[in-house]
Amino acid sequence: MLTLALSKGRIYDEAVALLGRIGIQPTVDPGKSRKLIIPTNRDGLQLLIIRATDVPTYVEYGAADLGVAGKDVLVEYDSNGLYEPLDLGIARCRLMTAGKPGEPTLRGGRLRVATKYVNAAHRYFAGRGIQADIIKLYGSMELAPLVGLADCIVDVVDTGNTLKANGLEPKELIMDISSRLILNKAAMKMKHAEVTGFIAELRQALAQSPE
Ligand code: AMP
Repeated sequence: MLTLALSKGRIYDEAVALLGRIGIQPTVDPGKSRKLIIPTNRDGLQLLIIRATDVPTYVEYGAADLGVAGKDVLVEYDSNGLYEPLDLGIARCRLMTAGKPGEPTLRGGRLRVATKYVNAAHRYFAGRGIQADIIKLYGSMELAPLVGLADCIVDVVDTGNTLKANGLEPKELIMDISSRLILNKAAMKMKHAEVTGFIAELRQALAQSPE
């Protein structure tokens, strides 16, 4: 049995669409059920429904053999205890700096940056030689520049509507984000045939995709 960890929402919807292309369908809709372990029509595969930021933890500790996690989550998790065999190209967005229009985000002196993406922000500003004080937040980052908590934020941006609705604009691109298939290292050894077979199926489905 292989266990694949997924988070609800955009990753679940897009990952299930991809699984559908290799004939795999969940037998329960997690949108309508409180079940966290979801069987599929394939006897050898079940899904775990967990928080996006918990996916790498479940996979590293082997509670799930495989998982789907955004590159943003993986950069923050920052472990070499996982394999990342496949870019699934789903749940795409951009990790960006953002702030009030007209105000340069990058200026002399120390910069106050509010973000959930502390590792990525540290690396980005350090790499550009900018001294930044990173303030860790857990949500609603858009508020921080409006109330003077920070000069700018680092957040994921898709359409930009969330920023716009709060009078902010995207500034510098830090990295393009997409979801990756991640794999437990022991599962690669102990369940080698199932794991490599599953990855090959997904790889083939991706190669045939119109994108
Ligand atoms: P938008 O208003 O379309 O720019 O979406 C921005 C918000 O949607 C962000 O603040 C995130 O909370 C969320 N979001 C959009 N796309 C993703 C994604 N691929 N992964 C994680 N969060 C996302």
